Amino acid sequence: MLNFSIMPIPYEDESPIGYTLRLAKANGFRYIHSMLDKTTIRRIVCNQASEKKFIDSKFSMLYTEKDSHVRNPLFRNNQTTTPKICLTCISKSMNIPNELQSPFTYLCNKHQQPLIETCAHCNENLTWELTLLDGHCTNSRCGLKLHQHLSIVYPELTTKENVSDCLLAGYIANNLKNYHLKQTKWASQPGQLKLINDGYQLLNNTVIAQQWIVTLLNTLPQNYPKSFSTILFKILAQNINNPHWPGIDKMKSALLKSSQSHSHHKSNLLTNAGIAVDILGIDLFSLGKLRDENFVTITSKSRLTNQTLVDVSTIVNKLTQLERSSQMLPLSEQRSKIAFYGIPPANIILAILKGELRAGYRASTDLISSILMDPNDLKDFSEKYFAAKLGNKITLEQAQEMTGLSTQVLENLKVSGRLKSPSWFRPGCRHFCVFEDIIKLRKSIHQNQLSLNF
Ligand SMILES: [Zn+2]
Ligand SMILES: [Zn+2]
Repeated sequence: MLNFSIMPIPYEDESPIGYTLRLAKANGFRYIHSMLDKTTIRRIVCNQASEKKFIDSKFSMLYTEKDSHVRNPLFRNNQTTTPKICLTCISKSMNIPNELQSPFTYLCNKHQQPLIETCAHCNENLTWELTLLDGHCTNSRCGLKLHQHLSIVYPELTTKENVSDCLLAGYIANNLKNYHLKQTKWASQPGQLKLINDGYQLLNNTVIAQQWIVTLLNTLPQNYPKSFSTILFKILAQNINNPHWPGIDKMKSALLKSSQSHSHHKSNLLTNAGIAVDILGIDLFSLGKLRDENFVTITSKSRLTNQTLVDVSTIVNKLTQLERSSQMLPLSEQRSKIAFYGIPPANIILAILKGELRAGYRASTDLISSILMDPNDLKDFSEKYFAAKLGNKITLEQAQEMTGLSTQVLENLKVSGRLKSPSWFRPGCRHFCVFEDIIKLRKSIHQNQLSLNF
């Protein structure tokens, strides 16, 4: 049982951890760990009830979430776990206001002064030690007087939503090897003020925004479609609160103009399933089918969701090995045929990867324009898919697409009995033909054996 001879009165805006530090100091402790165990300190830092009556009773009103209207995909609770302090608050009253531990606070409201989170001498992040209250570095090997060094004062950066965007942008820009976001429970990302600063530059400075896109395009090997290299841009654009940052527009136009990357290293591409389905142009169910065939790697055993981490690099590595021929055209130029036959893109990708469908590959803007295919091969594949799906019946329009004959000619062939109606035919359903008839018809057109005289 702890007994304190001195119990300071908490300031109205004080953080529980700030008060705990003052309490320790007032009672002659040198280290906060001599007074409380690690778990308790951690709970106080996170504004959770600590089960220590002398703290909890003073701060019961503070155990609520900060800035609950703002959501950032990096963390679930808007509570920074490392110190951010205002040197004026410290020198005037040794106060560490609760508001400063919001991840979206970078200025002291009272003094309009930038906060500090690192020591300018040793570059270490500050920790919750008693020397904070004297305005000194908490690194025991340094301990020098803290002073302002990273000055971020942006008069227009006032809303929490915008600060949240900057923090996210800064995090993504500083973690170029991560093609996914992992949400932590608390805002424990180190160097948040620096991230906000970097993110602000990226979202506001169009030159930096443009350079960033060039950097992105160089992070993946050149055999990847361009859209894969821009996953980080997608993640950023999908998760920001404010879509009107000048940098975002610049990034979009830079992406349109940019050329392919020149990097040659081998790479794994681990990203969230939600992003993977977007760049592959398929749905989540089909992603599961690709997993079943070992074309994407998913380590988690639990149900596949948009957040699940998947590695899609096997697909690109396999596609790169395909041989291409001169008759092949990008699938993107054959979109109308794919749409016409209603083939899910995942079926085409699967058939190619399994070696059932001949295709080539040349890295281009996105996957569908990087896969090349002979139009005749695609036609054969489409028709087989179609026949299997429709059970041997097709419409006159589809028969027209397959044979190149006009619907009038086809109708005449039906009237003359040379094309049958499907077995389930009922009066009024004149619109359908038997699939096999159309295949035969096409063959005879190729062999010039069809007489179209009636
Ligand atoms: Zn202050
Ligand atoms: Zn230091």
